[in-house]
Amino acid sequence: MSITNDQNQMLIQMIKEFTTNELAPLDMTIDANGDYPDGLLQKVIDTGLLGITLPREYGGAGFDYVAAAEALEKIAVGNASMAVTLEGHFKTIEQFIKYGNKELNEKYLPSAVKRIFAFSMTEPSGGSNPKGIATRAIKQGHNWVITGDKIMITNGGLAEVYCVLSKTQDDQMAVFVVDKDMPGFKFGKREDFIGLKGVPVGEIVLNHVVVPESHLLGTIGEGLEIGDNAHADARVLMGAVLTGITDHALQTAVSYSKERKALDTPLYQLQVTQEKIADIAIAKQNTQALYQKGAQNKITGRPYAEVAAMAKSYGSRSAVAASDKALQILGGYGYSHEYPVEHLIRDARAMELAEGTIEKMNFEITNAEIAK
Ligand SMILES: Cc1cc2nc3c(=O)[nH]c(=O)nc-3n(C[C@H](O)[C@H](O)[C@H](O)COP(=O)(O)OP(=O)(O)OC[C@H]3O[C@@H](n4cnc5c(N)ncnc54)[C@H](O)[C@@H]3O)c2cc1C
Repeated sequence: MSITNDQNQMLIQMIKEFTTNELAPLDMTIDANGDYPDGLLQKVIDTGLLGITLPREYGGAGFDYVAAAEALEKIAVGNASMAVTLEGHFKTIEQFIKYGNKELNEKYLPSAVKRIFAFSMTEPSGGSNPKGIATRAIKQGHNWVITGDKIMITNGGLAEVYCVLSKTQDDQMAVFVVDKDMPGFKFGKREDFIGLKGVPVGEIVLNHVVVPESHLLGTIGEGLEIGDNAHADARVLMGAVLTGITDHALQTAVSYSKERKALDTPLYQLQVTQEKIADIAIAKQNTQALYQKGAQNKITGRPYAEVAAMAKSYGSRSAVAASDKALQILGGYGYSHEYPVEHLIRDARAMELAEGTIEKMNFEITNAEIAK
């Protein structure tokens, strides 16, 4: 049975209420403390948020990617970190659904309603050029033995299940599923990033981790394709998160400009303020249109990688610029920790790097245009 429009609307209403009541009040605390407060993730799990994209056959709610992306936009208005934590989880589930075999999916996907999943490609040697990874998977009988070091993984340290891009002994790229409880698995350093302070972005170290053959996602040699697919899925959702961040900047700037006066004139009546508010509002609409097109194309089986790259490339640059404009409207208070706009700049800036740098986005967009 497919999801009805009413059910989609109920989901978004529920997300808005959860964001208003549980996430938005903690936004500044999460930024200041550099972590989620105790109990918050449990509330996210209890609300069923981890399973909204998971097919019903695995115990999820079975919403499509358009609904999931809209949900992340609304969450990001309240707290961008939590939206990125969910983005990392949703995009990983998508790879199981597309590439996972029956045995693997039946073993792991039912637990995705309460355990966070993550996708790991980046290594200390670099993230932009995955062909250079050093992680190795060696075949031994019916098992694969994986050794390597993955860094800067969204939800690294929090997630319990990891997709790991590896090279086989004959240099073919492949993705394997690894569980944090497997012998030889350990968590490494958590990055001290300047923004998205709630999301743990950290290292996983694999020392001869043994997984059965069924833990191979897709086929041997398909690793880069799966990585590209995960990037495209992630970029749609990041476009949604960036729309939410831009909306947060817009709402803050609008409400401040109504109250603050330049002598007797509210700021919003000044043309210089109007120019900034209009720019922020336009950026929000543009990013929203891009990610929605990406999500729509994905659910209707049309190509979406290019528009997803546009959503993240345009969305991240414009969200940083929009938050900076909001900061300017707030004057000195904008530069203070008392208001959220300074952390919105730091939060949005992450998405010029995560899931492929701006340079990589632009390379891919250009290649797609050249190929037309
Ligand atoms: C918040 C956050 C979350 C992240 N989450 C994940 C995750 O979940 N999983 C994961 O695997 N990784 C994750 N990453 C890592 C991210 O994917 C990498 O930071 C990114 O791919 C860039 O890799 P790098 O940092 O090693 O930079 P490098 O690859 O060393 O690049 C450095 C600079 O050189 C440029 N450059 C590199 N190669 C080329 C080239 N061939 N042509 C032109 N320019 C080039 C880059 O654009 C960049 O400006 C995350 C990063 C951040 C900040």
